[in-house]
Amino acid sequence: MPADPRAVESLIAFWADAGVDTALAEAPQDRMARGLEALRPRPPLTAPAPAPARPSFAAAPEPIVDVSAARALAAAAGDLAELEAAIAAFEGCALRFAGASRAVFARGAPDAPLMVIGEGPGAEEDAQGAPFVGRAGKLLDKMLAAAGLTDRVFITNTVFWRPPGNRDPTPAEQQACAPFLERAIALLQPKLLLLVGGAAAKSVLQRKEGILSMRGRWFEWRSADGLLELPALPTLHPAFLLRQPAAKKMAWEDLLTLSERLDRPARPT
Ligand code: URA
Repeated sequence: MPADPRAVESLIAFWADAGVDTALAEAPQDRMARGLEALRPRPPLTAPAPAPARPSFAAAPEPIVDVSAARALAAAAGDLAELEAAIAAFEGCALRFAGASRAVFARGAPDAPLMVIGEGPGAEEDAQGAPFVGRAGKLLDKMLAAAGLTDRVFITNTVFWRPPGNRDPTPAEQQACAPFLERAIALLQPKLLLLVGGAAAKSVLQRKEGILSMRGRWFEWRSADGLLELPALPTLHPAFLLRQPAAKKMAWEDLLTLSERLDRPARPT
């Protein structure tokens, strides 16, 4: 029987949210059908390719996008309204020309102590021009309200245009938008960052682990110029929670961890 495409899509999204984001083979293998024979190691079908020559020292990762123009534009923005206008005028992110109808920057309190950073706008966000206003956003709002954080958040994303088909933004797209996100953090000066979903956590923290291993752990975010450092907490994406309600417990624990730290008095220096 052919698989239901919606079930397949939901399963792939579940794997991606859980950090399973690498395919090991072009086609799936039914090891159950092939029985124990499938478990025996097999000799490679072709001779292994010669290992590529390795440089004698570790090279720094190449930036995949030239962000100098974005950095200059972002730096020139003196407040969040100017930053929003700079983003709207920016043409250096491919997503802008991939079917998005507008730039989606942020919503929330401009003096919020907590900045929530999601992955990227979806269809509803693209239609309304504000982040997290669709089904996932409504769940996020409910959870923030239950934690008493409603008026204490500023919500944005790693990219400011809707990725086509609601796919995750690519690292190149996130890198193109990163100077604006970083400027937003510098202008807002929040106390803490909440990174919502694997694509946001990996991009903001420059890490490779899946979200299930990062969530609930504190990381130190540092700006590219090294001038700003902030505690950042990755958590599960509300779209994942809508598909996997049993995981809400973990996200709730993360929110409690976050609000406890938000209200912890600063240590005298
Ligand atoms: N998902 C996100 O990561 N961000 C949004 O703004 C909406 C859905």
